[in-house]
Amino acid sequence: MKIPENETERLATLARYAILDTLPETEFDDLSRLASYICATPTALISFIDADRQWFKSRIGFDAEETARNGSFCAHAVLGQQLFEVPNALLDERFRENPLVTGEPYIRFYAGVPLVTPDGYSLGTLCVLDKVPHHLTRQQRDALVVLARRVVGLLEIRLAARNQNKELERRVAQRTTELVAARDEADRASAAKSSFLATMSHEIRTPMNGILGVLELLSLTKLNPEQRANLGLVSESGKVLLRVINEILDFSKIEAGKLDVRPETASIQQVIGDIYNTYRFSATAKGLLIRHHTDPQISPALLFDPLRLRQILENFVTNALKFTAQGSIEIQAKLVGHIDRKDRVRLSVRDTGIGIAAENQQRLFQPFIQADGDTTQTYGGTGLGLAICRRLADLMGGSIEIASELGQGTTMILTLLLPVCDPGYQPKIHPESTRDVHSTITYPRRIAPSIAAAEAEGTLALLVDDNVPNRELLMRQMNALGYAAEFAENGVDGLEKWQTGRFGMVITDCRMPEMDGYEFTRSVRLIEFNRGSKRTPIIACTANALVGDAATCLAAGMDDYLPKPAALAQLLEKLDRWLPIPRMSANLQAASV
Ligand code: ADP
Repeated sequence: MKIPENETERLATLARYAILDTLPETEFDDLSRLASYICATPTALISFIDADRQWFKSRIGFDAEETARNGSFCAHAVLGQQLFEVPNALLDERFRENPLVTGEPYIRFYAGVPLVTPDGYSLGTLCVLDKVPHHLTRQQRDALVVLARRVVGLLEIRLAARNQNKELERRVAQRTTELVAARDEADRASAAKSSFLATMSHEIRTPMNGILGVLELLSLTKLNPEQRANLGLVSESGKVLLRVINEILDFSKIEAGKLDVRPETASIQQVIGDIYNTYRFSATAKGLLIRHHTDPQISPALLFDPLRLRQILENFVTNALKFTAQGSIEIQAKLVGHIDRKDRVRLSVRDTGIGIAAENQQRLFQPFIQADGDTTQTYGGTGLGLAICRRLADLMGGSIEIASELGQGTTMILTLLLPVCDPGYQPKIHPESTRDVHSTITYPRRIAPSIAAAEAEGTLALLVDDNVPNRELLMRQMNALGYAAEFAENGVDGLEKWQTGRFGMVITDCRMPEMDGYEFTRSVRLIEFNRGSKRTPIIACTANALVGDAATCLAAGMDDYLPKPAALAQLLEKLDRWLPIPRMSANLQAASV
């Protein structure tokens, strides 16, 4: 069998057109049908010459999809570029003995025009055949050549479309890769930001802990009215700063999908009362009337997260305070429905302040958005509060609405559907002083004993913290609350002291050099286990205020968790729980600090 000189390239070109073994297409069939009409033959084919077969893209009056290349008329036709015609095979030396002539399909007449690509490769033919001899007219030959050109035209169109698709696919793939890379990069940046915020919050809370704690201790000393007022201002600013830090922290948690609510049995009335008590001084100081009311029909015990509810309402109240120059603020809780042992509660904070324009009301729930550009300059704030509130409300299955008129005032409304709890429940009474740093606190405590006396009594505490001001403050707070304490600089030091002394409890920081609080705790627990001795209460006191930190502490074997900055009252609550001391009847003010 003769093969074209450029066979390798020719086959490569054929492959490039990706025509072999494709489904029939009308456009090709139309052309072969025309060829058979024009040349008046029963059979017309569009044939492609592959390495060792001829494959038919279109076949009129012919059954096989492909036949052998060897000995085929078309294989012969593609050796040239012109019409190849065999008027009578029996009279042609080259084909007389050909099996296609002597047997099925008994070819006598063949005329094929090579399908020549623009770059000169004969890929196959458009051909007509018959079992009887023919003589084509000049017009028929001409028409066959024209049709063959159309076939090549179709091939070109297909190729172009294919390349375009490929290009499109390539671009899509490239764009997808770029987008994935961008997303990964954004994820990485976001993770870095979250961890940066977590670190920052830790770093800011640690000194804040010191500042607020010392202010609180100061407020327990004898002060003249001016000093007390100044102290009040400073601690007020401290609390605002802490709030901003907490907002940023909460917001980073929203972004990380880590903000959570922890429902417990709690009382709406108590939350409303607490908030009222916290803000009544600021309101009256501003000349505003502040009132609160809780619908007595609301069940006394409901299932919700009191801290998060408080956070939302505090946000409403601080905004009301901020944006109201005169008039009143009303905090209300109303029962608006009861379904399936659930109370539908409507909590609202109404003010008579500057109001919010209708067009701005929904925008305010987006992070960093304030009603107008001047707000930050005039009133300050991060613009995160309401975004956090909305997210928290979502998490609680509730909703927030605004009813407001410019110049008239604003009502912020939180609606929640809360399961009713056991009627036997008695709400815990939180000491009001937890929040009010500069209110006069008198703890019915005693003067702190000496270390030896405390050790004998079993009330000596061990404070493990690498931060000197924090340690110092905690020590003084303990003393102010009637406790003696010893300190250790880190886990290693702490472990040594704990093993040699007799401690009623340990308060430990979490992040420390050499040995951190978790490892320290694990070591203590192991030693206790080996000795079969009684378990020393260990409380974490840490500025790691992120969600999940409490769980980490407990998992390490600690008993409780005190987030920094801890107010005296919070510390006292833990001490009362884990290391109670005999109370003195006398009302002693811890003036020794
Ligand atoms: P921040 O108060 O920290 O700026 P918020 O998300 O709590 O952030 O509030 C966003 C904005 O909504 C405020 O800056 C203010 O423009 C508007 N706003 C919220 N509450 C009130 C209100 N009671 N009266 C008037 N405007 C308010």
